[in-house]
Amino acid sequence: MPGPVTLKNITTFEMAQHQLHECVYKCAKILELEDEVMRMLENPMQQVQVSVPVKMDDGTTRVFPGFRVIHNNVLGPAKGGIRFHPEETVDTVKALAAWMTWKCALLDLPLGGSKGGIICNTKELSEGELERLSRSYIDRIWKFIGPDVDVLAPDVYTTPQIMTWMMDEYSKVSGKNQFGAVTGKPVLVGGSVGRNNATAMGGMYTIREAAKELEIDLSQTTIAIQGFGQVGSSAARLAEKLFDAKVVAVSDSRGGIYNPDGLNIKDVIQHKAKTKSVIYAPNTKTITNTEVLELDVDILIPAALENVITRDNAKNIKAKILAELANGPTTPEADNILNQNGIHVIPDILCNAGGVTVSYFEIVQNRCMWYWTAKEVRKRLDKKMTHAYHEVLSTSKECNLDMRMGAYAVALSRIVDAMKLRGWV
Ligand code: GLU
Repeated sequence: MPGPVTLKNITTFEMAQHQLHECVYKCAKILELEDEVMRMLENPMQQVQVSVPVKMDDGTTRVFPGFRVIHNNVLGPAKGGIRFHPEETVDTVKALAAWMTWKCALLDLPLGGSKGGIICNTKELSEGELERLSRSYIDRIWKFIGPDVDVLAPDVYTTPQIMTWMMDEYSKVSGKNQFGAVTGKPVLVGGSVGRNNATAMGGMYTIREAAKELEIDLSQTTIAIQGFGQVGSSAARLAEKLFDAKVVAVSDSRGGIYNPDGLNIKDVIQHKAKTKSVIYAPNTKTITNTEVLELDVDILIPAALENVITRDNAKNIKAKILAELANGPTTPEADNILNQNGIHVIPDILCNAGGVTVSYFEIVQNRCMWYWTAKEVRKRLDKKMTHAYHEVLSTSKECNLDMRMGAYAVALSRIVDAMKLRGWV
C-alpha cells in the first residue's frame, strides 16, 4: 500500500485516495481486503482524454480538453455525470469517478462509477457554441460510452438540454434512438419525472432519518446552504416545504445572504434569476461564504464544489448535522475535527446519491419504455435512501466507525464480493 498522502494542499484525487486508504485501514478487520483489491480500486480502469474542437460564432475554431474516466464497472455499466468547468482537471474527474463507484455500490444499484469533464467556461459560450461543444464531445468519446458501457448524466454546469444534445448525438452516430445512453434528460425525450430535484430530495430523506436518530424536531431547525445551483436551490425549497424548517442562509460563488428569521426562498430564487447571484436579495444581510459555513445553525448543507470544509474552518462549524449534498466537500483533516466535535455527518456518497438513484430509475424506464408517476419515483427513492442511511448507521455503530467509514465499508464489501465472484481477484 502506498505511503500516506501529505494532507497539505491536497488535491481532490489525493483526497479520494486518502479516504480509500483510511477506510481500508479501519475496515480491514471487517472486510479482510487483500492488497490486490486495493491496487485495483486505487486507480481508474480506463481514462480517456480528448480534444474537442468547436466552431465558434466568430468563425474561429477553439479546442477544449475533455475527459471521461471509468473508475470501476464490476457491478454493472459505469455511471456518472459530466461537468463543464474552467478549472476542471483529469485528477478531479478521477476522484469523482471513484466516488460514483462507492455511491452506486452503497445504494445497491447495478452500476459502476465514472465521470467526465470538459475544461470550459459555460458563461462565455453562446447557446449554439454550447450545443456544438456537447455534440463534439460525444463525437470524440462515443466509442467508449453507451447504455451497457458507460451512461452520462448532468453535473456542475451541465443541464437537461445539454444531456439531450449528447443523447441525440450518440443516437445519430449509433444509427438508432439511444435514450439509455444519457440520464437527466427532459421528460419528453426519455427523462424520468423527479430527476430534476432528485439529488436534493434524496438528501432530504437522509436528513429526515438523521433527525429521527438525533431526536431533532425538523420544524424547529435552522439551516444554512452553501451553493445555490440546481442542488442547493432545490434543497432550500424542499427543506421549507417538507420540514417547515427555517433556511436562514444561502450562498453562491459571489457571497452569502443571511436572515435569522428565515429567507423567503422563492424571492431568493427570483432574485438570482434576475441578477445571477443571491447576494443583495431583499431583506437579507450580505455575509461571506466562510461565515455561511460557520453560522450557528442546526443543519449545514454544502451543495457546491469539493474542499470547502477544511482544517481551517472545521473547528468553527456549529451545526449538529452536516449533510453533504456536494461531492467531496470535506477534507480528511476536517473530517477528524467534525467527528471529534460530535457532528453527525451524512457523507456525500450517501447524502447526494438521490441523483444517481433516479438516474438508475431513468435507465430502467428507458429500457422498459414504461414511465413511472412522480409518486412512484418518490416512493422508490425514499425507500432506497432510507434503507441506505440505516445500513450506514448500523454498520458504523456495530463496527465503531464514523458515518463516512460506515458508508465505505458497506460499499466496498459489495464491490469486493462482486470482484471475487467475477474472478477479478
Ligand atoms: N452528477 C451526479 C452525481 O455526482 C449524478 C450522476 C448520475 O446521475 O449518474 O451523483
